[in-house]
Amino acid sequence: MNDVSRDILLIKAHCLGKSLAWVYAHAEVEPSEDDARRIAALQQRRGKGEPMEYLLESAGFHDVQLRITHDVLCPRPETELLVDWAITHLATSAKVLELGTGSGAIALAIGKARPDVLITATDVSEAALLCAEENAARLGIKIGFVCANWCRGIGGGFDAILSNPPYVAADDPCLKNAPLAFEPRLALDGGVQGLESLSEIVREAPRCLRARGTLALEHGFDQADKVRAMMCEAGFSGVQTLVDLSGHERVSIGRSMPDANTINERK
Ligand code: GLN
Repeated sequence: MNDVSRDILLIKAHCLGKSLAWVYAHAEVEPSEDDARRIAALQQRRGKGEPMEYLLESAGFHDVQLRITHDVLCPRPETELLVDWAITHLATSAKVLELGTGSGAIALAIGKARPDVLITATDVSEAALLCAEENAARLGIKIGFVCANWCRGIGGGFDAILSNPPYVAADDPCLKNAPLAFEPRLALDGGVQGLESLSEIVREAPRCLRARGTLALEHGFDQADKVRAMMCEAGFSGVQTLVDLSGHERVSIGRSMPDANTINERK
């Protein structure tokens, strides 16, 4: 089956409130006029390139099923790299800060696999936070949510800071085309060269991290060199980059200075 026929079946299942298996098994059942109208409307939106996640209002990410609204980015498979790394490497009962949580995908996937970890998740968009809070409540995963612009107003002492910030260059033509054009610009547009949010986080993170705390950032496939350089300049050590399943350098990780807090107190 090609992607188009699969999408049509998924849309039909969604509109009928049935499983994909049911739709397969009942191919002969004609939808009511109302359902047929709703199916046609969603198919038309799909035809214009709108991501399936918005049409179905749902996305599977790692081991969680999330409700997705137009206020949040559709979770990407490459972001699972950051989640897998965190699940494997976070110390028991680690205090973790996730910046720019959107639907809550990263925080919730980690929270589900590692209930011992204490997670605070932020977003500057109240609408996104509401979506993440609803996802957390439905999944029964405990996360502390805070409305904040990156690290501004956030306290210190975190063992790890994780983020998938906006990192598409503001002048990248991709932003005007599907699927990105359907997603919140706030979650994608990283300013000049796509590096503005990444650079603010790298500069501010040491203040929120305990000494030798970890910063792990997702970035664009061609930004690893620059992100590593920014991290080294900000005093992070052991800076390394993880490669995603497509072979792209995708997540850069470093440790803050042994005396990070002392240094920040002097600022
Ligand atoms: N990975 C996304 C894309 O290029 C961008 C996500 C982001 O900016 N954080 O489609």
